[in-house]
Amino acid sequence: MSQPQSYPSAVPVGVDTSRASIARVYDAALNGKDNFEVDREVLAQVATVAPGVAELAWANRDFLIRACRFLASQAGINQYLDLGSGLPTAENTNQVVQRIVPNSRVVYVDNDPLVLAHARVLLEENTDTSIVEADIFRPFDVLGNQAVREELDFSRPLALFQVGTLHHYLDDDAAELMRTYIDALASGSYVVIAHFFDPEIDRYSELARKMEDKFVHSPMGGGRFRTRAEIQAMFGDLEMVEPGLVLCDEWWPDGPRLAPLSEVRHCIVGGVGRKV
Ligand code: SAM
Repeated sequence: MSQPQSYPSAVPVGVDTSRASIARVYDAALNGKDNFEVDREVLAQVATVAPGVAELAWANRDFLIRACRFLASQAGINQYLDLGSGLPTAENTNQVVQRIVPNSRVVYVDNDPLVLAHARVLLEENTDTSIVEADIFRPFDVLGNQAVREELDFSRPLALFQVGTLHHYLDDDAAELMRTYIDALASGSYVVIAHFFDPEIDRYSELARKMEDKFVHSPMGGGRFRTRAEIQAMFGDLEMVEPGLVLCDEWWPDGPRLAPLSEVRHCIVGGVGRKV
């Protein structure tokens, strides 16, 4: 595939405090400390149309953690390629899976300088986990990266994550992008995706479109709310693990739900696919 350019994060914002970054806005939504006023302002702007916007981040993050537990405890996976790792410092992929399967190998990929700096400090003494600087929307760059190839054995099953990332890729060929990644995986591998969602139901669809509009016009750049068909296409012909592509909160929740899901939580889905 051609190398696309039309997504804001192709050029990382650096540690410029006057520009918002995807990683820092996400950190702000999760009540983290590594964000600036300009990042919090993006959330404040989206909150004018969706007061619970931070719940998008929580639903996404909790889904990621449950998927990690599933892969380590049930699927027998012990190597992970986590694309767009983000800034959170608690319950990161390596912490969750290495608690269940010690010595699992985890390679994070990101292009935000703050993420890279944080991760390098945090991972200094962890020889099973590393972070690589690359553009995750250029699959050939990631797959050809020497550190990625050295750390992970692509002849064996691994888990590849695009969690909370692909909605920041604005072109229409996201499914093609994912096919390049999937083609490189051994059979028995898993792909995990979480993505902003337009449920195509009047009231939630309207909410999704309003949030999208705010994100597009924010200093962070875009966030696309895609339809079920568009997101499902990113899994190609992978076999979906039950219950398939569903609201993040409905993918194997930790326990019974006592309160109804907020409106915002209807606007993010996740799923896990297995390469047969
Ligand atoms: N995957 C984590 C999670 O679900 O908790 C973090 C998600 S965070 C919303 C998205 C991450 O993707 C950020 O850390 C951002 O820097 C990274 N990212 C966005 N576009 C990227 C690109 N083109 N190349 C590398 N990383 C990118």
